[in-house]
Amino acid sequence: MRIEKIELGTITLPLAHPFKTALRTVEHIHDIVVRVTDNEGRVGYGEAPPTAVITGDTLGSITCAIEEFIAPAIVGMDLADLDAVMAKLNGCMVHNSSPKAAVDMALYDLWAKAQGKPLYQLLGNAKASFETDLTISVNPTEEMVRDALEAVEKGFHILKIKVGKEGLADVERIAAIREAVGPDITLRVDANQGWTAAQSVSIIKALEDKALNIQLVEQPVPAEDIAGLKFVTGQVDTPILADEAVFSPQDAANLITIRAADYLNIKLMKTGGIWNALKICKLAKQHGMECMIGCMLESQISVAASAHLCAGQSAITMADLDGPSLCATPPMAGGPRFDGAVIAMTEDPGIGVRDIPCRDWH
Ligand code: MG
Repeated sequence: MRIEKIELGTITLPLAHPFKTALRTVEHIHDIVVRVTDNEGRVGYGEAPPTAVITGDTLGSITCAIEEFIAPAIVGMDLADLDAVMAKLNGCMVHNSSPKAAVDMALYDLWAKAQGKPLYQLLGNAKASFETDLTISVNPTEEMVRDALEAVEKGFHILKIKVGKEGLADVERIAAIREAVGPDITLRVDANQGWTAAQSVSIIKALEDKALNIQLVEQPVPAEDIAGLKFVTGQVDTPILADEAVFSPQDAANLITIRAADYLNIKLMKTGGIWNALKICKLAKQHGMECMIGCMLESQISVAASAHLCAGQSAITMADLDGPSLCATPPMAGGPRFDGAVIAMTEDPGIGVRDIPCRDWH
């Protein structure tokens, strides 16, 4: 399991509909893919999207981080000592969580393949299938209602509604969606840092007054406003989920210590991969805190890695892994099956995704 080489490529996949949040609008997935080969010819795959507005990582910075820092640090190391390789990967440079995540998952893919087991079984084997939500982009209310009904028709029972652009007008938007989908659909609200702390409290209390039965509100305030996040969490009954405010295990420890949120949203592109995500799961479990697993606009490669983490870890009780469902292209072969709302794990070794549509490996 000696790491022989690390190659990079790109994949471009059109989305079925433009993806819109309070921060951005995206029409294509255009990501860096990573292929790690060991001395026995085994390969592992990883992926990183350039989510500059959240992680700061761009196509150029991801490429540079891997080629100039990460690869020189770990090529030649033996994956038999997984922790030593992961410590080196994380220690060779600060920040750059997305390129670290892409390499981390490719290493886990290869490591599990070498043992002939699906990765989730080596990460704790907590569940064999689970349900994901589907994201409803920020749009005029009628369009969001239409998208929500379409999602329910496709079999999704949990919807994540993107808001955060219009303050109290967002309440009407959410009320219209609740009215359209009925009481049995679980609704999550993601403000993507769009509100101030005071605004958050008044909006969330308005949602509560209207009895809209919102499961949770995600990242209402700016990422750096931890005091504001804690304030909102203390003021409302609806559970608050920290997303952009938690990247590293240290961030998670800080939020847990002061109880600034009720739940944590783990994304591999924020943690720098599975190795650090496992540390957050361990912390959460110790403190009885539930986690969501989320993703950026990622294709099936890295979302499959997140699915393995979710299936492995009991601390992760909620999934927002709708990247593959948002793509207009048919699924890639192998790995977890993304069939509408249900993600079902398979016996394919490693992360399992194969026949990656990338032609520019270099
Ligand atoms: Mg979010």
